[in-house]
Amino acid sequence: MTRKPEILIVYTGGTIGMVKDYQTGALKAFDFSQILEKIPELKLLNCNISTISFEEPIDSSNMNIDYYVNIAEIIANNYEKFDGFVVLTGSDTMSYTSSAISFMFENLKKPVIFTGSQLPIGHLRTDAKENLITSIEIASAYNEEEPIVKEVGLYFEYKLYRANRTTKINAEQFEAFTSMNYPPIAESGVHLNFNHHLLLDPSKNGDKLIFRKNLDNNIAILKLFPGITEKVVRAYLSIPGLKGLIIETYGAGNAPTKEWFLMFLKDCIAQGVFIVNVTQCAGGSVILGHYETSSALKSLGVIDGKDITTETAVAKMMYLLGEKLSKEDFKRYFETSLRGEITN
Ligand code: ASP
Repeated sequence: MTRKPEILIVYTGGTIGMVKDYQTGALKAFDFSQILEKIPELKLLNCNISTISFEEPIDSSNMNIDYYVNIAEIIANNYEKFDGFVVLTGSDTMSYTSSAISFMFENLKKPVIFTGSQLPIGHLRTDAKENLITSIEIASAYNEEEPIVKEVGLYFEYKLYRANRTTKINAEQFEAFTSMNYPPIAESGVHLNFNHHLLLDPSKNGDKLIFRKNLDNNIAILKLFPGITEKVVRAYLSIPGLKGLIIETYGAGNAPTKEWFLMFLKDCIAQGVFIVNVTQCAGGSVILGHYETSSALKSLGVIDGKDITTETAVAKMMYLLGEKLSKEDFKRYFETSLRGEITN
């Protein structure tokens, strides 16, 4: 690139931007426009940095679809002006948020890198500096005039993952995320190494960024466990306005074959609820029809979540419900990779 890349940091909240309130001992957000003063090293990076912050930064436990739209609007409104985006959110729900953003943008051709930290930026042993500095480097990595990453990524502890493949796996360790079904798309050590063959290639997509923000959160998750009772599962049928249900099944997509369970699925489908089968295993895929216990689900018309994570199934369901698709199209799109979120 012949000029310095312009990078926009979007701060929404989370531990990374917090300081200790010495009166209460609790963590609270600091004014993020001071970020360049807090981390003078940022001035050494080969890019120009601008920041934009939520007026009231949030703990990511309070994240919701309105905030998704806020984040996506900031990116959409600044898309032409900036070369790359770094979005800071709390790590607790970062996989959900970054997955949702990945669906909301079609034809994305610039890097959108989510990061955060386990310790606040002012803490002596903080992981925030490395996470932030490398995320900015990734967002400003260009090959000639082309950005290297043209998708939504999540960077944490030396690894850049495809965001919609990630899961938070540790509440304490700096290595807080993993991506069981897709390798890291970049790794940082002495060098920043991109796994070029694993990056999304949107060159065949249209040129114009399409931004969709009609998310529908009338959904629920049902996690199976041995001993689950009929009255528990049937309670889902009385959720007013329910449109989508993600069932976290066992292993390769297996569920009880008891009549009451199959009746529940039939009744849900008859009510017009879309049911997606996702495995509760951390890695691997649903393989419908592999066992008798999953064949029944297949013949009832349950959607195959393949190797999607629960976090991304939630985001994809909200996105596709918002598109108001026909039954057939909903199933077809859910079972197809839209942003590299499943292995086809
Ligand atoms: N509770 C924080 C949040 O998700 C944790 C973090 O930032 O890592 O907002």
